[in-house]
Amino acid sequence: MSLWDRMPYVWKVCTEQAWMAFMEGSVPVGAVVANANGEVVARDRNRIGEKTCAPQQIAGHRLAHAEMNVLLRVRCQRDSQETYALYTALEPCPLCMGAFYMSGLRCLYYAARDGHAGSTNLLGKTPYLSLKPVTVHGPCLELEALFQTLHLVYGMSEGRFSPWLIERFVQLYPKAGLLSRNLLDEGYFARAVAQRATARDMVSDLAPLLEPEALPEHHDLSTWALQG
Ligand SMILES: [Zn+2]
Repeated sequence: MSLWDRMPYVWKVCTEQAWMAFMEGSVPVGAVVANANGEVVARDRNRIGEKTCAPQQIAGHRLAHAEMNVLLRVRCQRDSQETYALYTALEPCPLCMGAFYMSGLRCLYYAARDGHAGSTNLLGKTPYLSLKPVTVHGPCLELEALFQTLHLVYGMSEGRFSPWLIERFVQLYPKAGLLSRNLLDEGYFARAVAQRATARDMVSDLAPLLEPEALPEHHDLSTWALQG
């Protein structure tokens, strides 16, 4: 079965949002909130490269992150929120980890590690951040290479990430780093964006090229798999 076909629906939606963000010139991160039955309650994306958005969203601002935008869409009773889960393509930064923690949601799934800004390790570091029974699951090695490649291609294009940051990511995630450079050199993403490729097309093109990165020896986060 192809990678796309193996993705649960929430991850297909998350990937579609990340790809839409990429095509709009924003950081390619998508996020979804799902209820206890796995139904999508809200979906949104990073919108820092967009100029306009609906009144309750954030766009064209450094704080217009995917998790912020999806959490701002969730308006319901406190009891319901505690049964919802946040799904995000990239490990949340300090801003989004704080927003998730304060939102009332209790469960977080992320696909790709972010060894630069990822801040799931803030949990338990202060008295306040030790209060709530929050669970964090990540990374998913089957999806990590996809989202890290998109993230690195975004960062390597148009000088968006400084050279030292690119080098740091390449050291941390060498397989995604090499693939990103190759795809950029051969113009894959320029073509895919010009042709308005769907997320499914993009995943189908990249899937045969993706290789999982190694986990650190003392990996203390809860990894998860697409199935099982
Ligand atoms: Zn963030």
